[in-house]
Amino acid sequence: MIDACAIEPQALLTVDEALAKIKTAIVPVQGIEMLPLRNSLGRILASAVYAQANIPPDRNAAMDGYAFSSQDIAVDCVFTLTCVGTSWAGRPFQGGLNSGECIRIFTGAVVPEQADSVIMQEQVRAEGSSIHFPAQTKGKQNVRLAGEDVRQGDRVCSYPKTVTAADLGLLAAIGIAEIPVLRQLKITFFSTGDELAELGQALQAGQIYDSNRYLLSGLLNDCRYTFIDGGVIADDPNQLEAALLGAAKQSDVIITTGGASVGEADYVKDILQACGQVEFWKIAMKPGKPLAFGKIGGSYLFALPGNPLAVFATFQKFVLPALAQLMGLPTRHPLRLTATCRSILKKSPGRQEFQCGILSQEATGEFIVASAGQQGSHLLSTLHKANCYIILPGGSQGVQLGEQVVVEPFSMLI
Ligand code: AMP
Ligand code: MG
Repeated sequence: MIDACAIEPQALLTVDEALAKIKTAIVPVQGIEMLPLRNSLGRILASAVYAQANIPPDRNAAMDGYAFSSQDIAVDCVFTLTCVGTSWAGRPFQGGLNSGECIRIFTGAVVPEQADSVIMQEQVRAEGSSIHFPAQTKGKQNVRLAGEDVRQGDRVCSYPKTVTAADLGLLAAIGIAEIPVLRQLKITFFSTGDELAELGQALQAGQIYDSNRYLLSGLLNDCRYTFIDGGVIADDPNQLEAALLGAAKQSDVIITTGGASVGEADYVKDILQACGQVEFWKIAMKPGKPLAFGKIGGSYLFALPGNPLAVFATFQKFVLPALAQLMGLPTRHPLRLTATCRSILKKSPGRQEFQCGILSQEATGEFIVASAGQQGSHLLSTLHKANCYIILPGGSQGVQLGEQVVVEPFSMLI
């Protein structure tokens, strides 16, 4: 079997060449908003955060026990100190400690200035206010130092970065109530095609339901973006042009699906050429060959293929890195693993292929992967079973049982 790209008149771009072109074309967006810390999970931190104070602010106990001075330890024999008070978390001991004295202390409570050690309560015997310490008592243990976690003036978070749950904890620990975050990216998507019916309508002869807008709304479900679902546009150049120009006024990114190929009714790339700039068109990847990227007005346009698996693959491979770059995030290569293939995979030499696979890990630690089913860019029933791509290089002629293959788990990448 000959791959379709083998009969292409001009060479197709490789995935890496296309990514390089996207990297050169995209300029990060500007615009910051202040958000309460609690609402900022998953957003992009837009400036560095510095600590105004030490965390923890005071020396404090790492466990429940007794605080004492290591100078009072009797070397190699038991000794007794007098308990003169208590330091509770949030209610420090008010007095001072003299030689021969200790205090009861609880985890997180301030260790008095004269003490440098805390012994675990299980290791002593209390008899009224007399606390008997064992031989071999170790000094300078179980005290957390002031500034041990974060020092005053430290840069605790660099930017840009996606705010994680751990960041929320860290920023709260240093008392930050609100943070500057990058504004949301504005993304408009629509489907193109005379054959597409909306959910809720009965299918007429030759129609199919529009699945791509549902796929995209799932892929774009991320608080760093806000999206407009532009609906279905017919295969009509005037309607398409009006929709693209309208979307360009209000979007950082426009995503269309369908109509990017070379069929009679494939207009998106021509409109992009006439009303904006085409950076590239057609990639040597399967699924996903007809993919146009360019600019229209102030928006970046991704004209993705119509078949849903090609939409999914080109979104993951091209749109996600572009969105990351628009938000100023560094380029990250997707995680790849080597796995033993438990299926026979067919492939014709030509384009790099991203086949849908099911990746798992054996008890021995070995990664194994099986085909998720018949590979066809319209087969959503295969995609829905898959959790990874099996990546087959352009020159590959298929895979035999037990061969090692490169696998890329599906991910949001950023
Ligand atoms: P096109 O790129 O417009 O030639 O479309 C390629 C294939 O994808 C055709 O079989 C279309 O019917 C199908 N297709 C296009 N758009 C969608 C959509 N929104 N949902 C499901 N299938 C689609
Ligand atoms: Mg079409």
